Amino acid sequence: MAKTKSKKNVAIKFDTDWKYDPAPESKDHIRLQESYDLFINGEFSKPSSGKYFETINPANEKKLAMVADANEKDVDRAVTSARTAYDKTWSKMPAKERGKYIYRIARIMQERARELAVIESMDGGKAIRESRDVDVPLAAAHFFYYAGWADKVKYAVPGASAKPLGVAGQIIPWNFPLLMAAWKIAPALAAGNTVVLKPAETTPLTALKLAEIIRDADLPPGVVNIITGAGATGAALVNHPGIDKIAFTGSTDVGKIIQKAIAGTNKKYTLELGGKAANIIFEDAAIDQAVEGIINGIFFNQGHVCCAGSRLFIQESVAKKVIRKLKDRMETLIVGDPLDKNTDIGAINSKMQLDKIKQYLKIGVNEGGEMFQTSCSVPSKGFWCKPTLFTNVSQSSRIVQEEIFGPVLAIQTFRTVEEVIEKANNIPYGLSGGVWTDKGSKIFKVTSALRAGVVWANTYNKFDPTSPFGGYKESGVGREGGLHGLMPYLEVEHN
Ligand code: NAP
Ligand code: MG
Repeated sequence: MAKTKSKKNVAIKFDTDWKYDPAPESKDHIRLQESYDLFINGEFSKPSSGKYFETINPANEKKLAMVADANEKDVDRAVTSARTAYDKTWSKMPAKERGKYIYRIARIMQERARELAVIESMDGGKAIRESRDVDVPLAAAHFFYYAGWADKVKYAVPGASAKPLGVAGQIIPWNFPLLMAAWKIAPALAAGNTVVLKPAETTPLTALKLAEIIRDADLPPGVVNIITGAGATGAALVNHPGIDKIAFTGSTDVGKIIQKAIAGTNKKYTLELGGKAANIIFEDAAIDQAVEGIINGIFFNQGHVCCAGSRLFIQESVAKKVIRKLKDRMETLIVGDPLDKNTDIGAINSKMQLDKIKQYLKIGVNEGGEMFQTSCSVPSKGFWCKPTLFTNVSQSSRIVQEEIFGPVLAIQTFRTVEEVIEKANNIPYGLSGGVWTDKGSKIFKVTSALRAGVVWANTYNKFDPTSPFGGYKESGVGREGGLHGLMPYLEVEHN
């Protein structure tokens, strides 16, 4: 066909750089104090050392508040208060009454949902869309769910009697601060225990807001104590002789330290640790749906997710197509202000975490991986990482074997079901995984062969308080969520 040279036929140039107008969530309704004390025995009190540390907003590096640094003496005060509350009040109270308090916490959380979501995004860097639509509603849902268990605990194990353990020491990480606090506190209270909880150093604010909610819900003093500090505070809690159970969520390295520290004691424990999940796409999958699920699986919450789908296995025949679609979709992700309602990917939680991610990007390239990052620009202040994927990596690459905990996806291909199962399982972790296929039989085959606590099929990152969560291998010991999550807070005696 002859080409027309008419000027009229000059290709129209589209402006591909259309941007949404900023849509920031308001901060006017947020009340933050200049400094926060320790929540012990139903009131806020000063740390015995008089020391405070700052928590910043990782999106602009500005200070949000000063937070008390609890030392061994403060830990002792908190544990003693939890013990007294257990002996004198909480264990004596009818279970139905305990349930009412837990429902009350859930309802106040819902009333203050906007405030909690905004503070979560400011303190931790996650996109408001996530803190508003995932973290806060799920946290309240856990309190609602376990409130329902409070007066049914004695029926939880047929033919056996179940008693609370006493005082639970709970330590949580920075990636889901409020949600992890809910995962820990709600089942502990429902089972009849009292609690001392330590949030992470970089994200203590929503746990302190939860302390205010617990105070406003009129919980008897000492039933829940929330103490802030760094790793040393956590270690003091683990080593305190008055603790009956440790519930820890965090890295595998710290999990191992805790396991050693309590070996030979009567302390019970659950450990929710790291992960390196495999998402597996077969050639018969609904490709567009799978691409969307993989994007959600690794870039949700900046990849700061223990169950992030950080490894991707694509069946060879569709590899080119899937990688092209992934790159196209990644280009449309909006990276920036966590408080903007259009933002998909917020700030990396801390400078330390960003340095760790950058280190892994270098390792990936040095090992021969081919790195792709999107062309978006990122703000000059704050901690940011563009969505990244690696191809040309091998099973032994460090970025395939080790947890990066950032928005970095490592892609491999496979030919057969047996090969992909072998590769997906060839890793020290076993927290979660995902399978994408049109065939139900393949779903059953692969999900039962994967050594992982949770495997999603044709979806990813779906959570519900009724459903247990936890890992195989170095991903942890025990389960949280559902009836499984209640059991580690109970002493079961068979009649
Ligand atoms: P982390 O460094 O292990 O810290 C977790 C918590 O432990 C923090 O509160 C930390 O305090 C405290 N801590 C540090 N050293 C301690 C010690 N020696 N004794 C007692 N407590 C100590 O983990 P992170 O970097 O905060 O969190 C990321 C990790 O959590 C990732 O590996 C992720 O996979 C894992 N995670 C697992 C799950 C799950 O359900 N399996 C869920 C979420 C996250 P400071 O922060 O103040 O130092
Ligand atoms: Mg912070």
